[in-house]
Amino acid sequence: MKPLIAGNWKMNGLTASITEVEALIGKFDGAAPDDRDVLICPPATLVAGFAVQFSDEAIQIGGQDCHAESGGAHTGDVSAEMLADAGAAFVIVGHSERRADHGESDAAVKAKAEAALRAGLTPIICVGETENQRTAGKALDIVSGQLEGSLPETTDDIVIAYEPVWAIGTGLVPTNGDIAEMHNFIRTKTHFDTRILYGGSVKPGNAKEILSIANVNGALVGGASLKAEDFYPIVMAAPGAD
Ligand code: PEP
Repeated sequence: MKPLIAGNWKMNGLTASITEVEALIGKFDGAAPDDRDVLICPPATLVAGFAVQFSDEAIQIGGQDCHAESGGAHTGDVSAEMLADAGAAFVIVGHSERRADHGESDAAVKAKAEAALRAGLTPIICVGETENQRTAGKALDIVSGQLEGSLPETTDDIVIAYEPVWAIGTGLVPTNGDIAEMHNFIRTKTHFDTRILYGGSVKPGNAKEILSIANVNGALVGGASLKAEDFYPIVMAAPGAD
């Protein structure tokens, strides 16, 4: 399976940040290796500009969220169709920051994932437990419920990102055994060829170890995706597709 290394820039990045993407491409020395997929999800303001600028490069551009409807009276929202029109290929849905900050339910995330598929985008559907839920021994149950509630009816072209909430932006990472257990569990709930990404404090120093765990088919990277010098070694740490 071709690994996917996705950068989530969150609410970071101005037009000048294009230099980081140029620096990343520069490190590829002409062409990104074709045995891995590289994705950058900048803020919505930068999607179209990046997609146009890098249309000939071996990196793809994605959104960080989309509305479930294609258009209408939803001030401030962006639809999946708009992202696709802007040149995006993927969209993250159900990130824990959106579930927390915007009260997004599993049903809302499912509707967004279905909207993404309708628009021809691949949704990256995020799931993950909180620290209290893990401490209480409920991590598998929580993720199981999120998958049941958030996955679209058609699951042919989706990506799942397992992101323990307590590992995001904290420098904390589950043990390799806990990552393996969760990814193996998610694998039993989805297609054999659905990519399952790990996300949560992936850094150049731990990427190789995490990306070599069975059923970890890539990474969703927040903070360390903002600088080419950090993101490049993470991209290259993924074992390539056979
Ligand atoms: C994320 O925002 O999806 C994420 C994993 O962040 P970080 O890599 O900074 O923990």
